[in-house]
Amino acid sequence: MTQPATLNSIVTALQSRTISATTLAEEHLKRIRLHDQEPGQEINSFLSLADERALAQAGAVDELARRGDPLPALAGVPVGIKDVLAMRGAPATAGSAILKGYHPPYDATAVAKLDAAGATLLGKLNCDEFAMGSSNENSAYGPVRNPRALEHVPGGSSGGSAAAVAAGFCAASLGTDTGGSIRQPAAFCGVVGMLPTYGRVSRYGLIAYASSLDRVGPLANSVEDTALLLQVLSGQDSMDATSSAEPVQDYVAAANEPVAGMRIGLPDEYFAEGLDPEIRTAVERVANSLRDAGCTVERVSLPHTAYAVPTYYVLATAEASSNLQRFDGVRYGHRTENPRTLSALFRESREEGFGAEVKRRILLGTYALSAGYYDAYYRKAQQVRTLITRDFLQAFAGVDALLTPMTPAPAWKLGEKVDDPVSMYLADVYTVAASLAGICGISVPCGTTATGLPIGVQLLARHFAESKLLRVARAVESAETAR
Ligand code: GLN
Repeated sequence: MTQPATLNSIVTALQSRTISATTLAEEHLKRIRLHDQEPGQEINSFLSLADERALAQAGAVDELARRGDPLPALAGVPVGIKDVLAMRGAPATAGSAILKGYHPPYDATAVAKLDAAGATLLGKLNCDEFAMGSSNENSAYGPVRNPRALEHVPGGSSGGSAAAVAAGFCAASLGTDTGGSIRQPAAFCGVVGMLPTYGRVSRYGLIAYASSLDRVGPLANSVEDTALLLQVLSGQDSMDATSSAEPVQDYVAAANEPVAGMRIGLPDEYFAEGLDPEIRTAVERVANSLRDAGCTVERVSLPHTAYAVPTYYVLATAEASSNLQRFDGVRYGHRTENPRTLSALFRESREEGFGAEVKRRILLGTYALSAGYYDAYYRKAQQVRTLITRDFLQAFAGVDALLTPMTPAPAWKLGEKVDDPVSMYLADVYTVAASLAGICGISVPCGTTATGLPIGVQLLARHFAESKLLRVARAVESAETAR
């Protein structure tokens, strides 16, 4: 496979007018139309295309280049947007039948920022319904295939976002990560995916799943591209009260700083039984190359790790049950025909509009929040969340970053886990603790298994230590490409 063009090289080529943004946009739209739905091997990553908006933007970029004006950071870069984010001029389904036909009249802040940086917004990307899932098989619009292994899942919930980048349908994409949904599909598809610190990127215009956990972040072909995207996306937003005033750093420069002298921790709990031996070997190789680059690598402990999956699934479902109350058949999307009473309108619209996994989670979450169970489940989970966060803060008192496997196993086969939700939840063991703690993380591709399935390693760093994180990620990436 030829090395994909970096975002920077796209902008440089546009500036020197060796290519045009319009041609680039047309080529990408054509490639998606030809190959995303190819019978028998359809990737199914895009749910809708926004030709008009994409070509208007590309035309404006070409006009700037023609005049010799400086181009913005992402000028002409073809990107895709996960369908849980609002994008003016395009439908937003969140992968759900209940939102069929809903057209948000505005852009999510993250989308507006890409637009303002000149990116070409090609369209909306498939995902698990309301971002609930780990395989993209919970989408009401059909599963996504993994472009690197067509019989396998691309991961989820941002499966379309990872697959579209891996397939070359776009140069970068936006995903969201509540409990692993950017990092895990990035690992399964062999691309880079970043979970910014909670508050780093605005959530305005994101269809909420679990608001205390939801984050918006980039997926791309390289760490440097990811750094550039993060730079554009970051910053405080008056439309999201949880967005942070923490200064935005020069992440691209940070990614290229040397790592010698940095301290890396390997959490014991992430190397327990059940880890695929080829993934274990890949992480060990990465640890060695960081040592060779002058880092110290030491074992650390995150003692409450075992509680992360149950804690996450109590809190995420509780928040989801509350957030999803707004889909009542009155305000957005699907409405049942001829309901006999008002409560039948609510009940039947929701019964018809929501998929099985979403219903399961509404039930679980309502249960965890109900009187009599609240203390045993919701409150207890909040307390454990604090303990999990403390584990990380203690670890980061001694190390700059943590290195872990991203997933216990590579991408499984389509259909393999659909009837076993618990085994699907358990596959999130390495992703959800960082989500609960609010810290930042990144998945970096590290080769493949013997059968050709991509492997990702995870790096984690303290809140707002994205610069450090990208620096280590870049070192891992260069060691891996030099291999
Ligand atoms: N797999 C996890 C879940 O189903 C994470 C999803 C996400 O991060 N949006 O909840």
